[in-house]
Amino acid sequence: MANPLFDTLFGRHQGKATPFLETPDGTIITHSEFLDLAAQYAHVLVELDVKPGDRVAVQIGKSPQALAVYAACVQAGIVFLPLNTAYTPDEVSYFVENSGARILLCDGRRSEALAPIAAANSAILETMNSDGSGSFATKAALMASVFSTVERSENDLAAFLYTSGTTGRSKGAMLTQANLLSNCTTLTKEWAFTSGDVLLHALPIFHTHGLFVATNIALLAGSKVIFMPKFDLDVIIAHMPKATTMMGVPTFYTRLLEDPRFTKDLAQHMRLFISGSAPLLAETHVQFEQRTGHRILERYGMTETNMNTSNPYRGKRRAGTVGFPLPGVEVKITDSTTGAALPQGEIGEIEVRGPNVFKGYWQMPEKTAEELRENGFFITGDLGQIDEDGYLHIVGRNKDLIISGGYNIYPKEIELLLDAEDGVLESAVVGVPHPDFGETVLGILVAKPGAELDLDAIKQSISNSLARFKHPQKLIVVPELPRNTMGKVQKKALREEYKDLFV
Ligand code: ATP
Ligand code: MG
Repeated sequence: MANPLFDTLFGRHQGKATPFLETPDGTIITHSEFLDLAAQYAHVLVELDVKPGDRVAVQIGKSPQALAVYAACVQAGIVFLPLNTAYTPDEVSYFVENSGARILLCDGRRSEALAPIAAANSAILETMNSDGSGSFATKAALMASVFSTVERSENDLAAFLYTSGTTGRSKGAMLTQANLLSNCTTLTKEWAFTSGDVLLHALPIFHTHGLFVATNIALLAGSKVIFMPKFDLDVIIAHMPKATTMMGVPTFYTRLLEDPRFTKDLAQHMRLFISGSAPLLAETHVQFEQRTGHRILERYGMTETNMNTSNPYRGKRRAGTVGFPLPGVEVKITDSTTGAALPQGEIGEIEVRGPNVFKGYWQMPEKTAEELRENGFFITGDLGQIDEDGYLHIVGRNKDLIISGGYNIYPKEIELLLDAEDGVLESAVVGVPHPDFGETVLGILVAKPGAELDLDAIKQSISNSLARFKHPQKLIVVPELPRNTMGKVQKKALREEYKDLFV
């Protein structure tokens, strides 16, 4: 094949008037209309002298046109580099500089703030607004809607995706065509996607979940996508009766459950609800099943690897777990210090290997060497445990592990107990500096609406189930936990905020 990723995902739909994207206002974009647009965009990129292998950084709102930029990059052999729309100009500056992007495509409203950054990095600034208009579209309108696909091999880079920056500075993960292709082929099969599916797509497209998992699967299977600019309960509820599947982060599911309009009847036509990007509380899984009869399918992945494990589509989905390794993906649990494989049941580093695992971090050879072993195993930075039936349980991140007086404390164990207390909506447990113990346990709680928390009673109650060294030194109540757009709790921010509490 000339360009495996393009041919497999996009080229297969060439000339087909089948529906690909439907926007909330009812507009339908067919596969062939989408590909015509992508071809025009590919011409613009070539005219701007972007060469195969160059990077195109995009920080634009979610729209069908924004997705067509991804297709255009694949067709022209260019490395697609999407950026979180929440990033400030200072943050964008880091990504443009780090990646050496040739083009920075941004919303027109930001062009003034970003122009100096583009100029300082010899990148060309182009605009694309959330309705698709802007300097890029103006140029594209003059272009032919046929583009001869640039030849690429499976080992060529298709995208740079920067990690979410939950544990430190974002790293640019280099993903090849083969990484993306192998994963979407596996997932399409595992989750039984077909051309009869209609996917509710409310995730951002600058992150692996909404971009590669959701979009690539829909393209491969030929499914229709209800493409929403953001998560909006009214819009989701309005479109659910004609959909068959949804992919979401856990907050999508908790927000749906809070809405009385979300009923069994509404979800009747649905075949599958998938969750990932952050831990889904077992309680949410149970409540969801009680309300709708559906068991949410939870899976586990990350920027560097796409998806690694999944609960089964046909077998038993186990709440609070992320299921089994996907076909072709190896998962092992190792000792953090020695790297030796641990016996089944023990908690350790989750390591993964497979065709889905990235090629390394762009311009970070030391980081790559630290996390990607020569034998191909990637050290995920997550801690986990495999139960006797083979389901993987994620215990937390290595960097969130608390070491107090020389003992290891896994925050998740304490969070599960706190969450089960009356009136507690959710919790985060972090380690903060302590003069005697090095670190000590701080429990941060969010109350259910209207609930008054009796912190002494909660402390007393959980201490019965925990060894003394794990007892929280202090519990505090906050209105909400800091989260990023993917619903990930920002423990780094919490540790920073409370670092002086005991010193
Ligand atoms: P950084 O690597 O920059 O610190 P990040 O790890 O949050 O940021 P992502 O690649 O977006 O960046 O997120 C991957 C992480 O998300 C995983 O390593 C894991 O900690 C978490 N994650 C993903 N899916 C799940 C899940 N189903 N349950 C629990 N955690 C999950
Ligand atoms: Mg990470």
